[in-house]
Amino acid sequence: MQLLWDLQAIDAGLDGIRDTQESFAPKLDNIKEDIVLLSGAEAEYKSELATKEVERRDLRDKVEQLKGLIAQSKEKIAQIANNKEYFAVLKELEHNQKQLERQELELAGLVEEIDSIKEQIAENDKDMAAKNEEMAIEEKAISTKVATLERKIKSGERGRQTKTKGLEQAFMRRYLRIRKRYKNAVVAVENGTCLGCNVNVPPQVYIDLLKGQEMMSCPNCQRIMVNRAEAEVEKKK
Ligand SMILES: [Zn+2]
Repeated sequence: MQLLWDLQAIDAGLDGIRDTQESFAPKLDNIKEDIVLLSGAEAEYKSELATKEVERRDLRDKVEQLKGLIAQSKEKIAQIANNKEYFAVLKELEHNQKQLERQELELAGLVEEIDSIKEQIAENDKDMAAKNEEMAIEEKAISTKVATLERKIKSGERGRQTKTKGLEQAFMRRYLRIRKRYKNAVVAVENGTCLGCNVNVPPQVYIDLLKGQEMMSCPNCQRIMVNRAEAEVEKKK
């Protein structure tokens, strides 16, 4: 019974270590998710920027073209004698000048937009760098912890093997079956009360237990019982 009691302590320890190990994953997943979101945003900003850069190039070409037309019109006007032709060229000149004004305004707006996208990209880069750093730090911390935990698991499993060697297969199977339902498959009985379910066991069962009969189950909860004295001895070891 003491072997089972020991085994239960080792198993509880191993469960705790495994839970701790599993608790690391969500933290890393959160950071990874943030990085994925930031990378997505980065890609969008960059494609937006590329589109705007093309627009700006086109607009600049148009502006240059208009400036050329305006210069031509001005040259023509200086050489014109005929009124009708003069007004026609003047009208064209005015039209092109208005167009130029509009497009230069548009171009200024576009340049502003481009600058703001570039700022957003810089901001995004900073956030990503911070997240990547956080990830690296977290991964390092976790890998150190995991290494420690894995050492503990290994030594726990070695201890477990020693204990299970001394146990009969039937005992082991029963222990493992009960453990699926209750983490404390092995419980102490004190003054005739099962400390697993807090129900009194029948007097005859308790007497048998005190006599040292092995592998007795609590008639109420089916947990494997050990008497309190045995459990205490085990704790002091
Ligand atoms: Zn019980």
